[in-house]
Amino acid sequence: MIRRLILWGILIVSCRGVRESPDSAPPAPQADSAIVIVSPPSSVRLQPMPGEWTEITDLDSTFVMELRYADSNNFTGRPLYPCPRCFLRPPAARALAAAQADFRRLGFRLKLWDCYRPLAVQDSLWKVKPDKNYVTPPAQGSMHNRGLAVDVTLIDSTGKELDMGTPYDYFGKEAWPSYTRLPDTVRANRRLLTRIMARHGFYPGQTEWWHFSYRKQSYPLSRKIWPCEKDTL
Ligand SMILES: [Zn+2]
Repeated sequence: MIRRLILWGILIVSCRGVRESPDSAPPAPQADSAIVIVSPPSSVRLQPMPGEWTEITDLDSTFVMELRYADSNNFTGRPLYPCPRCFLRPPAARALAAAQADFRRLGFRLKLWDCYRPLAVQDSLWKVKPDKNYVTPPAQGSMHNRGLAVDVTLIDSTGKELDMGTPYDYFGKEAWPSYTRLPDTVRANRRLLTRIMARHGFYPGQTEWWHFSYRKQSYPLSRKIWPCEKDTL
């Protein structure tokens, strides 16, 4: 079992640009061969993520999880994660939970679209969208690859998303935090999101209103891929 795990790990970290085809994964069309699918067979345990990582739902169960890269509802059109779990470095996770507490006091909650992102997935995103205004080059590494960034929006008490002016992963100036030709409601919603996130150390980038990086502490880039069985951590 251990030997199989090691072999699987080597296969994943060495498969830059080549789609994996584990026996439990569906076949992929040839045209998408640049996309790395990281799904392991469900019976294989991958790279346990001990104390250097925190799963956000262990701190607060009220986050709404809609991890877009865990299914095909993303700009690549393919699932890139083996399963939807949100990991962050511990200080960032604690700060995000504190932000969620503030939002809840105001009648809102955070919806999470992305958290820690393994570096192999950054390769996949870059191959589909090689534009550093929107996807950080893998050689540089994104704050997501360090476990220090989240993509989020707000929902109200009925579960409805607040109007932020654009959908997630909209590649255009209307998504820039500096863009102001928007309805008053949208600008107010973005201000609310940014104000509370900044209070807890999360700051927006230049081109995506939904992206926030935790800037109080630094961590290295990571290729770790989480297991799908919670009790293996
Ligand atoms: Zn992001």
